[in-house]
Amino acid sequence: MNILVTGGAGFIGSHYVRSLLRGDRAGYEGSRVTVLDKLTYAGDTANLPMDHPSLTFVRGDVCDEGLLLDLLPGHDAVVHFAAESHVDRSLVAASEFVRTNVAGTQTLLHCCLAAGVAKVVHVSTDEVYGSIAEGSWREDHLLEPNSPYAASKAAADMMARAAFRTHGLDVSITRCSNNYGTHQFVEKVIPLFVTRLLDGRDVPLYGDGRNVREWLHVDDHCRAVQLVLERGRAGEIYNVGGGVELTNRELTAKLLDLCGADWSRVRAVTDRKGHDLRYSVDATKIHEELGFTPGIDFDAGLAEVVRWYADNHQWWDTREERLAHAR
Ligand code: NAD
Repeated sequence: MNILVTGGAGFIGSHYVRSLLRGDRAGYEGSRVTVLDKLTYAGDTANLPMDHPSLTFVRGDVCDEGLLLDLLPGHDAVVHFAAESHVDRSLVAASEFVRTNVAGTQTLLHCCLAAGVAKVVHVSTDEVYGSIAEGSWREDHLLEPNSPYAASKAAADMMARAAFRTHGLDVSITRCSNNYGTHQFVEKVIPLFVTRLLDGRDVPLYGDGRNVREWLHVDDHCRAVQLVLERGRAGEIYNVGGGVELTNRELTAKLLDLCGADWSRVRAVTDRKGHDLRYSVDATKIHEELGFTPGIDFDAGLAEVVRWYADNHQWWDTREERLAHAR
């Protein structure tokens, strides 16, 4: 198999690529992988085994139609992770989110059709549904995105649906809850808190900390993406969840504990504008159709992540600098 992975130098994409190249996916051992990544502040080739003989890395933009038309022929499948992914940045730089997440996705879908790519997985997010006080969203729930990030992902989902309905492109969409894991850029809450706590600094907790998120280990998410690539039906949406629901205060308490710190290190900061209260996906469909169940225990997974950041100071030192420049 020849698989093109967009955004493969970022957090989730690089986990997915490393797992493919390690031969973790039965039937896909020996696959050739092309990573297309613009290497924004969030992407880094240090996340990839660059000297692996089955990996080709191309620095480029998913909005670049000419590049995609050159690159895509000969690929059997595309897994599309590339995106501007940080909600806070979308509050101040929404146009870049529309460009990459909406126009980039449309360009990619158009080029996949032109190149005759047999299967596309469009990696989306539960944030497209908005916020839910009780219960969980099924895949047919109304989309009510609240942040520019979520709105741009929802628009991209609609372009993927249109590519299927209008042109018959075999594209499936995944909508996953919050991921945690190693190699996550330091702007996101878990690596931000862990690296600051390990450095002896304070951490900023939004508002009253009562916002609820559902956490899934990145390796579980990547396994779900692979199942959708292999057996997901064309034009279908698959929620990916079944992780652990925690308020941000509960998450903070666990991170303080793992880092040997206490609540004196937590600063309450003004809440994020339009901060969604709670996300929760109903993941029955992917469980019943594709047999997906999360496998990694949250507390054990989180402890391993904290150990990884403690052992890989250099990885996040350089990113702290990059983050300062990106602001
Ligand atoms: P990330 O920000 O860590 O990585 C994004 C990658 O895309 C980076 O390597 C970046 O360089 C690349 N990129 C950005 N703009 C590009 C462009 N125009 N052309 C080519 N490459 C570009 O993000 P992530 O957390 O790994 O998220 C990956 C995908 O998963 C995103 O589509 C996101 O919406 C989705 N998702 C993330 C989560 C989560 O909790 N992180 C949850 C559900 C869904």
